[in-house]
Amino acid sequence: MKNNYDFIIIGAGGTGLAAAMYSARLGMKTLVLGFTHGTELPVGGVITTTNIVENYPGFIKLSGYELAKKLEEHARSYDLVEIKQEKVVEIKKEKTNFIIKTNKSDYEGKTILFATGTMWRKLPEDVKGGREFENKGVSYCALCDGPLFKNKTVAVIGGGDSAAKDALLLSEHAKKVYIIYRGEQIRPEPINLERIKSNKKIEIINSTNIVEVKGENNVEGVVLDKPHKGSKELKLESIFVAIGHIILSDLAKLLGVKLNEKKEIVINHMTSETNIPGVFAAGDVTDKQFKQLITGVADGCTAAYSAYEYINKKGK
Ligand code: NAP
Repeated sequence: MKNNYDFIIIGAGGTGLAAAMYSARLGMKTLVLGFTHGTELPVGGVITTTNIVENYPGFIKLSGYELAKKLEEHARSYDLVEIKQEKVVEIKKEKTNFIIKTNKSDYEGKTILFATGTMWRKLPEDVKGGREFENKGVSYCALCDGPLFKNKTVAVIGGGDSAAKDALLLSEHAKKVYIIYRGEQIRPEPINLERIKSNKKIEIINSTNIVEVKGENNVEGVVLDKPHKGSKELKLESIFVAIGHIILSDLAKLLGVKLNEKKEIVINHMTSETNIPGVFAAGDVTDKQFKQLITGVADGCTAAYSAYEYINKKGK
């Protein structure tokens, strides 16, 4: 088979790109397959949708897109790395190698890495109108769609760091930003909590869920499950959903890779090995506790080194 590689990386986010760079430095012929779950994100993955990254060492501040481009350029600077935007549809083990079928071709790898990450969690189906108004005011990407709501009223749903960062970004465009959070107190990084508290455009509505998104053609308001300032209806032009992510581990599961109850891939945290010899996993798809770009990048490099050792030992 001509499409033969030492290391095939499934997922072209920060973790996958860092793994590719390292793998090439170790002399391995490397293929990165992006667009694995139809998430329609460019090479670079979810970090491309983050406005400002301030917690990646070496760069005090840069956009997620710029950082992703730098990671991509770095990986592509090695002749041993190929990056293809193809959707993986099947993975099979054949003898000691792995056959990966995409929407365009078949590839064979001595080792594989799952760096498939996560995808935005959608609004629960019982939120009336939540799906119907997607792209008509219901958005999952504040960076992409925020500028459309200049001087408008918008809401962010969620209380994690993504919700906080989205609210701060939206406050640069909108005249008013609500954060609607189901719990008692939002829990972003403390630095972002301080920024929110001192931002006059942002108002937090705690202990509240939305039950309906309303409008004619586009979003015109939401219905809350309890009154806010005397009314369950809140007029606004857009809602940005930041209620976490779902783990993209279905392909790994089909191959027999062990997952935990959260559908995260269970790995050896020293080596990035999974339960299947020759199969590695790194980044947000794994069962690691602290999920950040910097930690994913580090794990991707570890996985590349472990794959290199695995191939060398097998060859002896
Ligand atoms: P997250 O921390 O999992 O927070 C999700 C939020 O959505 C929580 O507040 C949760 O409420 C709420 N939520 C979940 N399901 C909901 C539902 N059905 N209805 C209403 N609310 C719901 O997700 P995240 O903020 O996207 O962060 C994910 C990871 O990425 C974290 O580890 C974070 O540190 C990391 N992150 C990193 C960066 C960076 O590198 N700079 C930036 C952003 C995020 P509860 O609190 O009640 O569970």
